[in-house]
Amino acid sequence: MTGLEQYDLVIIGAGPAGMAAAREAGEAGLNTLILDEQPRAGGQIYRNIGRPILRDRSILGNDYYVGESLLAGLTHSLVTHIVNATVWEVTADNTLYYSAEGVSRQVRFKKLLLATGAQERPVPFDGWTLPGVMTCGAAQILLKSSGLTPAEPLVIAGSGPLLLLIACQLIRTDARIEAIVDTTPACNYGQAFKEIGGAIKGWRYLLKGMRMLNEVRRSGVKYYKSATELRAEPGGDGNLASVSFRKGNILHQLDCKTLLVHQGVVPNTQLGRAIGLEHQWDEVQQCWKPTLSENGCSSHPDIFIAGDSAGIGGAMVAEIQGRLVARWIVHQLGGTERRDPGIDSLRKELIDQLAIRPFLDHLYRPLDMFLKPQGETIVCRCEEVSAAEIRGLVKQGCIGPNQTKAFCRSGMGPCQGRQCGATVTTLLADELGKSPVEVGYYNIRFPIKPVSLGELAGLNQTRSVKAQTDQTTARN
Ligand SMILES: Cc1cc2nc3c(=O)[nH]c(=O)nc-3n(C[C@H](O)[C@H](O)[C@H](O)COP(=O)(O)OP(=O)(O)OC[C@H]3O[C@@H](n4cnc5c(N)ncnc54)[C@H](O)[C@@H]3O)c2cc1C
Repeated sequence: MTGLEQYDLVIIGAGPAGMAAAREAGEAGLNTLILDEQPRAGGQIYRNIGRPILRDRSILGNDYYVGESLLAGLTHSLVTHIVNATVWEVTADNTLYYSAEGVSRQVRFKKLLLATGAQERPVPFDGWTLPGVMTCGAAQILLKSSGLTPAEPLVIAGSGPLLLLIACQLIRTDARIEAIVDTTPACNYGQAFKEIGGAIKGWRYLLKGMRMLNEVRRSGVKYYKSATELRAEPGGDGNLASVSFRKGNILHQLDCKTLLVHQGVVPNTQLGRAIGLEHQWDEVQQCWKPTLSENGCSSHPDIFIAGDSAGIGGAMVAEIQGRLVARWIVHQLGGTERRDPGIDSLRKELIDQLAIRPFLDHLYRPLDMFLKPQGETIVCRCEEVSAAEIRGLVKQGCIGPNQTKAFCRSGMGPCQGRQCGATVTTLLADELGKSPVEVGYYNIRFPIKPVSLGELAGLNQTRSVKAQTDQTTARN
């Protein structure tokens, strides 16, 4: 593989982690490439920050506009930023493949930073695949990128800090919200209280949470706490017509056109999995995350991970990790013995920012009905495989997630297991009486995103990255 463009550092993801890392790397003199599949930088929290769509800044709140300051990192002369660029493969010889504007290209890197963020935790429950049911994050994407809100009346159901944030943002747009149904289990409060020390250290986050709760209460939107037995019900046309849930002894049913659901976010591990990096199971957060050194180095010495794809920490943590990892990479590539004192102070900042996590993780651990669904609840929505079917496979000799593919095609649809992977592991672990680690996860294979045969065939004839960047930048 000669003649390929080579970068000191390639960063995948232009969210807070990726943007902060790009700035550090550029300023330290590293020839850096940052790729993101979105049309603009910002990641999830700062989506579209370069060209905000909403005139009223109070709708998304101050925390959104903090992202403006990170954009500067992308304009450094040593940083090349390519938008609409989807990375679909990384090989062991430090080569990366991405697709942009219908053309695939390959570049080589000395160091690679995965800053691919989080995805919302898939929430299998009865009716979650009905038209009209979408995630809170999807509603927020609509708002940030198009200034649109979903069809009304709407009900918001689930658990986690983002549930409240998105509820507040929609309240500020005057969307007609029928109710907020909080499924945070009552028993979680006791568990979380044991972590109150960390919560006090992270008092700013607590204060923010209390403000959002107050805003919801003041808005007059009905708020049901500790709800269970969430179901989405179809109407005669097959679309969502109502949502039902239990609160205490009372079964409620609310008519709605849209149900927004959310049960927290989990690291996006798809790329790291496909590369073959080591992962571990986080029992409290009930998700997989990569195994990393304190400097963010994965089980491959040239591949680093920062931000929510390293473990959920939120935007501030993502930014600090991005800076920390970039500085460590600069140190490694510089080959000097002298330690960068900035790394230690970033590590300290990181510890402070993460202090509240154990409290949040215990408080927002989802109800078991979402983690270990039963009966006919669909688990793999691409191939329409139910929880009962997955559980039943164990009796037929199925010993792990990869065998379920042969039995019932679960995980083989277009989402490539992103929606069902963790649930299939948990269900098999439940049936086999084993831990998720013993059961394992799907083998994820490249390409991790669809790529056409034409693009593959044209790989050796593609123009240089620089020529393409100039074209893409000119268009945006
Ligand atoms: C839907 C959603 C909405 C959220 N909204 C908020 C919010 O409003 N406030 C808040 O505090 N937190 C929010 N979060 C939490 C959020 O993940 C973090 O706070 C923060 O954005 C994490 O930053 P990051 O840099 O780690 O990743 P992100 O900001 O998620 O950035 C990751 C970037 O990687 C890119 N990417 C991923 N895979 C590839 C690939 N294969 N090829 C190319 N590019 C790729 C993505 O396009 C994305 O831009 C949200 C999370 C989700 C999932």
